[in-house]
Amino acid sequence: MNIEQPVDLVIVGSGLAAHRAALEASALGAEVLMIEKMDSIGGSTVMSGGSFAFAGTDQQRAQGIDDSEQRLRHDLLSVGGGEADTALVDLYVNEQLNEYDWLRGHGVVFSAVQLSSGQSVPRSHPCHPGVALRLLNTALSAQSNVRILTGTRAKRLRRSRSGGPIDQVMMESAGKTVTVTARHGVILATGGFSRSEELLKLFVPEILSALRAGGKGNEGDGLMMGWEHGAGFADLGFVKSTFGSYIEVDEAEPHTTLLPVYRGAIAVNLKAERFIAESRSYKTLGQAVLRQPSARAWQIFDQNIMSQSVSGVPSFDFDAAMKKGRIIQADTLSGLAALAGLDAATLQDVVDTYNADIATTGKDSRFERKALAHEYGELVPVQSAPFYGYICTASINSTYAGLCVNPSMAVLNVYGETIAGLFAAGEVVGGFHGEAYMTGSSLVKALVFGKTAARTALNATPLRVVQQEEVT
Ligand SMILES: Cc1cc2nc3c(=O)[nH]c(=O)nc-3n(C[C@H](O)[C@H](O)[C@H](O)COP(=O)(O)OP(=O)(O)OC[C@H]3O[C@@H](n4cnc5c(N)ncnc54)[C@H](O)[C@@H]3O)c2cc1C
Repeated sequence: MNIEQPVDLVIVGSGLAAHRAALEASALGAEVLMIEKMDSIGGSTVMSGGSFAFAGTDQQRAQGIDDSEQRLRHDLLSVGGGEADTALVDLYVNEQLNEYDWLRGHGVVFSAVQLSSGQSVPRSHPCHPGVALRLLNTALSAQSNVRILTGTRAKRLRRSRSGGPIDQVMMESAGKTVTVTARHGVILATGGFSRSEELLKLFVPEILSALRAGGKGNEGDGLMMGWEHGAGFADLGFVKSTFGSYIEVDEAEPHTTLLPVYRGAIAVNLKAERFIAESRSYKTLGQAVLRQPSARAWQIFDQNIMSQSVSGVPSFDFDAAMKKGRIIQADTLSGLAALAGLDAATLQDVVDTYNADIATTGKDSRFERKALAHEYGELVPVQSAPFYGYICTASINSTYAGLCVNPSMAVLNVYGETIAGLFAAGEVVGGFHGEAYMTGSSLVKALVFGKTAARTALNATPLRVVQQEEVT
């Protein structure tokens, strides 16, 4: 096929949002061109922890977890601090169980449901993200109406006639610049901008001291291409780094976050002092750690928490981290303090106060921590030897902010009007999360928004968005 041959839809990117959009568009009979600027597909999706936030699944029921659409909605809105777009949240809530079934229908297997950031009950459904994307890519590659090009970067979006919809993509492929016509428009699924120093400096200079993670091609190209056509932006002021990452980048290990705090660990700074309620969203913790000396913290925990290690779930696979030497161990707290270079008396005092609070009132008097994560789980004392420490910082994994969209995933201009021919899905979209973040909501958002964008672009029956009742 000649690269310049017109198609129905150009999808820019090759992560989860792009794959979901392309599979939906292909099922609707459209001719699709999916382009990826890097030499391999997958973006941040294949580097992720692979946790999907679904509510009301059979797996949750089998584990005795009482979850519901209403509870999910409540959590998304409360974690978002009242700043999330309720129409986008309702779309997610309505569609998420269909996406759970859809992924499983493609052969994706989830392991035991876990509790993580921003969840009032355990709802992280973990899978291997690389395997999941490979399954989807195999399904997509088998479609005769789909073409996938790597090493092909979208540069600019164009209109073939003045005042008409966006229907052309100027792209660079194999050293040549070509323009492809997209009869039904363009879906931007270009991910975030964690790898663009210019955009980070422009929008969130306060997190520049965090490490950089995420797909190497995630340089905000989609934001720039939409911006040229007047797209509005949402949530840029809320972009935060993620707490719990290794203190140096390890390119060989894409997922570098460990979160014993959500099993009951405390976090102390290099002065051995706690600095926040550790149950809060890891985005909020990420902001807090950047303000600590050297932007570092130790997560301090005991054997009780170590024993809850979950093999294959990166953020909670403490055994694997121990084997890699990322976690230190000592028989006593003072021994641990010596190994970590922390003041032993301060650490002992901090742990004693924390344990005494739990024994007397069940909650922490210093920062009013009441739960393990978000609103779930009773606090546990840090008292069963041996003791463990993990030094960490914050990294910019994702930038959950970007293009303004309506619940049909049409991109809106700065006045809230649709930009004809332009659609977006996944991390490039803003407005969904609000001020903080629930683990697993980004991957599910990529699915729901990707499917929606394809249906809207191809004028398929719109998805029905039902306003959910708030739980009290
Ligand atoms: C370490 C880490 C752990 C994470 N863990 C989780 C988790 O457990 N659960 C969760 O929900 N979320 C998690 N996330 C976030 C989640 O992975 C992403 O938000 C999600 O995968 C984004 O999907 P996407 O399809 O929008 O973008 P991506 O998967 O990032 O794909 C975007 C693609 O677009 C390409 N691209 C960009 N510009 C262009 C262009 N101009 N032309 C062509 N191609 C272009 C990029 O190269 C990239 O391949 C994690 C992220 C990281 C980094």
